[in-house]
Amino acid sequence: MNLIRLFERAKCATYLMLACGVLFLNACDFGDVATKRFLQNASVYFSRDAGASFTRLSPDVFSYQKGFNRNLVLRTSAGFVVIDCFNPDFARGLADELRERFPGESVHTLIYSHYHLDHVRGGAELAPARVIGHRDLKKYWRFLELDRDGILPLTREINGDTRLNIGGLELRLLDMGLSHTDTLFAVHLPESRVLFAPDLGFVRSLPPAGLPDMYYPGYIAALERLAKIDFDTYVPSHFQTGKRADLREYLTFLKETRALVRKAYDRHGPIAEPGAAGHYYDEIYLPLKAKYGDWVGFDEMILPFLVRNFAGVYLGY
Ligand SMILES: [Zn+2]
Repeated sequence: MNLIRLFERAKCATYLMLACGVLFLNACDFGDVATKRFLQNASVYFSRDAGASFTRLSPDVFSYQKGFNRNLVLRTSAGFVVIDCFNPDFARGLADELRERFPGESVHTLIYSHYHLDHVRGGAELAPARVIGHRDLKKYWRFLELDRDGILPLTREINGDTRLNIGGLELRLLDMGLSHTDTLFAVHLPESRVLFAPDLGFVRSLPPAGLPDMYYPGYIAALERLAKIDFDTYVPSHFQTGKRADLREYLTFLKETRALVRKAYDRHGPIAEPGAAGHYYDEIYLPLKAKYGDWVGFDEMILPFLVRNFAGVYLGY
């Protein structure tokens, strides 16, 4: 008798749980679930590289990484050259690192790779004697109050490919044209055979959030130009460093993705066409997953990346 009652109770509890589950699913709009999932994924993506590191790439070339961001630091007889300071926390961490490792040596020049605010804040922490960047930075910053926003103003504007010699070290600043903004410089150090490609290249990683501010034709042209340069060490501004082959592989990934999207779009039309979505999944997502599914951030960022590529095919950018 007791067993039968227990069974009935268990059955009731199961029914109750199922009913609650159905109510919960009904209460959760699909948009809410998808948004929460994306935000959780984004959090995983951006917080993957916790902590900080200071890596020597050659006798006088270093890369400082803190959290999601990574820069380039050159030690010259005139002082340090820092390319990108990102934000006050990053710049303070780098300043502490330099003080500890090289007491008494100061920052001679800070170079901004491009105008995006996530790369240029907090420069005062490094107290550079000079600040160099593209002449069109002001076009984007005219609505800002630089002091209030923590951005050191330029002491020298440059435009086009520019060679600098600071303290005996040669830097080639390569104007990347309209690629990721129209204010972007990559930095090539011929003696050290190092290339810094901020927001241009990644090493076996997906770019964040569909790669904001990418003009695809210019972006590909910029990467193709960089891929022809003779260098060994490849330094992106996010995630790990790599070799020249990693830059070429990333370029291949971009081109393959765009080609798959274009082909599916030409064959099945825009997403509004009946049945197009299923074709997109089979003909774009699955082949990319098979080839690049083990890349850092693939699961978290493939969706916005594909959406961005569809927009690019549809709108022509
Ligand atoms: Zn950027």
